[in-house]
Amino acid sequence: MKYVSTRGQAPELTFEEAMLTGLARDGGLYVPETIPTMSRDEIAALAGKSYEDVAFAVMKPFLGDSFTDDEFKGAIAAAYAGFGHDARAPLVQLGSNHFLLELFHGPTLAFKDFAMQLIGQLFQIALKRRGEKVTIVGATSGDTGSAAIEAFKGLDAVNVFILFPHGRVSDVQRRQMTTPSEANVQALAMDGDFDDCQARVKDMFNDFDFRDGVRLAGVNSINFARVLAQVVYYFTSAVSLGAPDRKVSFTVPTGNFGDVFAGFIAQQMGLPIEQLVIATNQNDILHRCLTTGDYRTDGVKASISPSMDIQVSSNFERALFYAYDRDGDAVTQIMDELKNEGGFKVSQGAFEALKSVFKSGRASEDETLATISSARVATGELLCPHSAVGVKVANENLGDTPMITLATAHPAKFADAVEKASGIYPALPPRMADLFDREERVTRVPNDLPTLQELIRKAMTA
Ligand SMILES: *Cc1c(COP(=O)(O)O)cnc(C)c1O
Repeated sequence: MKYVSTRGQAPELTFEEAMLTGLARDGGLYVPETIPTMSRDEIAALAGKSYEDVAFAVMKPFLGDSFTDDEFKGAIAAAYAGFGHDARAPLVQLGSNHFLLELFHGPTLAFKDFAMQLIGQLFQIALKRRGEKVTIVGATSGDTGSAAIEAFKGLDAVNVFILFPHGRVSDVQRRQMTTPSEANVQALAMDGDFDDCQARVKDMFNDFDFRDGVRLAGVNSINFARVLAQVVYYFTSAVSLGAPDRKVSFTVPTGNFGDVFAGFIAQQMGLPIEQLVIATNQNDILHRCLTTGDYRTDGVKASISPSMDIQVSSNFERALFYAYDRDGDAVTQIMDELKNEGGFKVSQGAFEALKSVFKSGRASEDETLATISSARVATGELLCPHSAVGVKVANENLGDTPMITLATAHPAKFADAVEKASGIYPALPPRMADLFDREERVTRVPNDLPTLQELIRKAMTA
């Protein structure tokens, strides 16, 4: 199994190489050269299996010979052992034909744990075998950073530095990043906003001396290994509702398009998915694009579902690659237009292709709050604001096919917004009830590249 870039100009890599590389050298994103398929019988055989067994069956064909079966099984077992629910991704019922897939039982209470926990294990195995160490530097608006610190803490082949905007993440998000005591993970509170943090990380990747010197690696959501780990719960949930004999639909709260792209992969693998519905908050570039064919950036507005506040949806490039019939030159051209002119018009053929797979909708801030409140009354479920965006859009797309909405975070992670909507202050699960008693460890840093580089180099030699 080889991995190719969406822009067609970077070297082909194995799964392991693509995982350790992240962004391709031509600026594109790695995708498998062919998407493996599963037969009806193979999908039917997943019924009743554990989450871990389904994970192995679904992901294994993508790995080539990067990991032995024993290595991969061990990584999966370790990745999900710390989840607070035996089903890992339980399904609850919201209405006669509407289900909620709870993806927030991992150690940091958001769906990002599903992928990050697994790639933490896979990085460690691959780097040990190669006798290498890497430095992971990431920027976060909250969820990615906490998931990365939790997944990589204590692994000796990896040093992790997470930059977050000082004073701009929720208390739970900050404490999840600052309370782990392992020396190989460091939370850096930077002066500035999330865009500043991301810009400094990009600067570090573009400084090749520094990049090679500290062996910089990335684990943001464009890493294909992360997308792959998210394919699994599309299978477990669909099969539990009757697939492959019965079709299902999904609604996915979407920001960087990683989660919903995993749904596209599941569908291409043969899972009978009727509709894949993209749900956006007021930052609705994807909804506008799927309605008008025009992909144009429009400035980020801060919302109560901050993990979906995006201006450019990185993984959408992967969907465009397939919509343009895997034409790397065409993708390069529209991505250049995006960079230089702030947007592009999708070709007629690609627009039709996108619309045949994806539907979309949006939720305003008021609609999100109203959905938290109405879902609580109608079903007893307390939704986080991201999940509420999904439920609002799913409700507009219900039909004869069972609809599964992805619940991407636990309400306690966004407690203030949930309380504002419902009057209920959501409690943390018992296993992390002491989060506010744990000691914090954080380094305050200026928005200054040389200072940051010096700090990282020093930590490497210490
Ligand atoms: C990251 C995140 C999203 C958006 O997921 P994408 O894969 O970027 O589309 C939605 N909800 C929550 C809670 C998140 O942390």
